[in-house]
Amino acid sequence: MNVFFLGTGAAEGFPALFSRTPINREALRRGGKNLRLRSGILLDKTIRVDLCPDALAQVHKYPERDLTAIQHLLFTHTHDDHFAARELQYLSCNFAPDREGPLQVWGSEQALTKLQGEVKHFFEAPLLRSCVLEPFVEVQVGHLFVTPITAYHKSDELCFNFLFREAETDKRLLYASDTGWYAPKTWEFLESIPLDGAIIECGRGVSQSTYEGHLTLEQCIAFKEKLALKLGAPIYLTHICHTGLLLHEEMSELCAPHGISVAYDGLELSL
Ligand SMILES: [Zn+2]
Ligand SMILES: [Zn+2]
Repeated sequence: MNVFFLGTGAAEGFPALFSRTPINREALRRGGKNLRLRSGILLDKTIRVDLCPDALAQVHKYPERDLTAIQHLLFTHTHDDHFAARELQYLSCNFAPDREGPLQVWGSEQALTKLQGEVKHFFEAPLLRSCVLEPFVEVQVGHLFVTPITAYHKSDELCFNFLFREAETDKRLLYASDTGWYAPKTWEFLESIPLDGAIIECGRGVSQSTYEGHLTLEQCIAFKEKLALKLGAPIYLTHICHTGLLLHEEMSELCAPHGISVAYDGLELSL
């Protein structure tokens, strides 16, 4: 399974769109791994998780990847940094005359209903095919199998994290963004799943914020300990926020003793 990090930043990006606090200034000065677009990953070239407001910038940034070729788009939830629904209007033949076949869009019933409200005529075309996900029910998405698991993130919406399984190799990857500490049902489900890798969000870093919809670094370390990880399975943090108060290098240093790495935009993993 090939995993490509399209973006690893939180909602406002890092450095942030409208903030020049010292950490944002320093991230801009250092550049490189400290420049984070909004979060999302690409799996095996054709399956994209979340469509952020930076999607076009990502197409331009990674020309060798042909991000226009995606066949499946999975939505974790409908916060703006993951759900730039109106960008899907550019699938139409006026804007993408070379595109063949509908894009299959996967999400909760609530997310897909919201999507239809934004780009209803494309469902009728059909440039989009809508596929509803149910919590803990595995579905086949292209050549991968995906189990949506219930995240702890937004009180008025069913938010998903995803467990990806590649049948030929029996490899499993957890993508855990956006979420706070899971409810017992999600932990019970994950307890028995051997994982070949995990990507965990760390939206709160070392801040004193009491918002429970994202994880602190301390929680990420405890989160890793609760997973049934195979020996040597890579763990990466993503959805990093400037309000978490850690630059890439500082966060990497704090994570290293726990066998955790910090993802960055453009990172590629092979499981
Ligand atoms: Zn987010
Ligand atoms: Zn969110």
